[in-house]
Amino acid sequence: MRPTDDTYRHKGLRKKLLQTVQGKGITDERVLDAILAVPRHFFLDSAFDEKAYEDKAFPIGEGQTISQPYTVAYQSQLLELKPFMKVLEIGTGSAYQAVVLAEMGAQVYTIERQKKLFESNKSFAFLKKYLSIKFFYGDGFEGLPTYGPFDRVIITAAAPEIPQKLIQQLKPGGMMVIPLGAGDMQQMMRITKLENGSLKEEVFDYFSFVPMLGGKES
Ligand code: SAH
Repeated sequence: MRPTDDTYRHKGLRKKLLQTVQGKGITDERVLDAILAVPRHFFLDSAFDEKAYEDKAFPIGEGQTISQPYTVAYQSQLLELKPFMKVLEIGTGSAYQAVVLAEMGAQVYTIERQKKLFESNKSFAFLKKYLSIKFFYGDGFEGLPTYGPFDRVIITAAAPEIPQKLIQQLKPGGMMVIPLGAGDMQQMMRITKLENGSLKEEVFDYFSFVPMLGGKES
């Protein structure tokens, strides 16, 4: 069962979580406001009630996880979002990251390859108020050519290589934030598609993500 009450205790725990991610170097006010606004415990089973505000990844079923809040904040900060930007997310999972982006004013298009996780988000009542998020069941390596191009692409699973179709779906001047690497650890990269079509690559810290897999899972 999912919890539906957001109490003062939960809000207090969120403030502490905010201080934790700030302490780790997150400075973007819009990211911090979103972390404070989004009741992370709603995205987990009620068994995780208070644990939801620990800065950790947790299981969400199908062998997948809700990303660690610090990781969500880190990727969100690297996106340098402006309100109304069109953002493609690969790996909806719990939908927590998608909601954080929506709270920051983005128009979110999010893809999940696991049918059960996609279906579970359909019946997740809290998400109904986020009209700026569109949910898709499919293979993120393909992206959403009919909905693009996008201002930003965020990949929330470990990518073995830079998905070329997603680069094609980026607007000139657009950015992709992607954890790259097939092993246990991935290096966070930000790829900017310059106006002349060439790519600028920047490297950041190491993280550990579940793998980005091809195809769909029913
Ligand atoms: N953004 C999520 C993180 C979930 S973990 C959150 O906030 O909770 C990564 C998710 O990526 C998993 O649910 C996994 O099933 C999904 N995934 C992996 N490869 C994918 C692909 N090719 N296309 C779409 N989703 C993918």
